[in-house]
Amino acid sequence: MTPARCEIHLLKAGSCLHPEAAALKGGSLCPVDFPALTALILHPTEGPLLWDTGYDPAFFRVTRRWPERLYALTTPVTLGEHEPAARQISRFGLGPDDIQGVIISHFHGDHVAGLPAFPKARLYCARAGLDQMRRVGRFTGVRQGLLPGLLPPDAESRAVFFEDRPRRSLPLDLRPFETGADLLGDGSLLAVELPGHCVGHWGLAARGPDDRLRLFVGDAAWSLRAIRENRPPPALTTALLGRTDRYRRTLADLHALEARGGEVVLLPSHCREAAGAVEIP
Ligand SMILES: [Zn+2]
Repeated sequence: MTPARCEIHLLKAGSCLHPEAAALKGGSLCPVDFPALTALILHPTEGPLLWDTGYDPAFFRVTRRWPERLYALTTPVTLGEHEPAARQISRFGLGPDDIQGVIISHFHGDHVAGLPAFPKARLYCARAGLDQMRRVGRFTGVRQGLLPGLLPPDAESRAVFFEDRPRRSLPLDLRPFETGADLLGDGSLLAVELPGHCVGHWGLAARGPDDRLRLFVGDAAWSLRAIRENRPPPALTTALLGRTDRYRRTLADLHALEARGGEVVLLPSHCREAAGAVEIP
């Protein structure tokens, strides 16, 4: 059986300023704009789903007080009035209650700030990531990019854990990645573990109507350039958030996939080049 093709719309839900050198070894110390990319995935039978949420007004609400304010001060965020994902989906005739599920790469604030806007959606995520978000204190959380205040109180009851979904072999085009978690049971959306960036970090593979595979890589790489050049961020950055050795192995695997020159479209969450495919509201 051929897995269903999904209509995939890449969206940008805000951006933040960050020195390039934090994301790319040898990069500039000048702050550069990192887009927060999300995607609206229209599945033919399951309906509309989101890949991450990007920024949302909830981010500003949660970072108004200390120590969370430190997060907002160190990575200044820009979010246009029409940029939150919950607003952008209206262009597709959808409201927040139409979103059947949010597929969460990981729980850093710039990926889950919009969760409060989708109170009915299932939350497809790593159990390891959700557990950590629930356990982490506010101070440690800020240091690790986690804002527990963004987590809906009923997150566990709406969660579908990647770890519990059946494992499937990935299409050969995605080698060296071999297996994924079949989120809907029809092989159309496969979560792919991409360890290293932080606890419970996963990507997502889906085929578009053009039959090409998309691999959303979250923060396993900050840019397509980093994948092409197999150029990780400084160990200081990766060690602060996750595990440098595992991050570098994942990046090397993405590099190997890219270097084969196949048809797979790689989509890092904060890549300005990838953001070229964003549909402007
Ligand atoms: Zn992250």
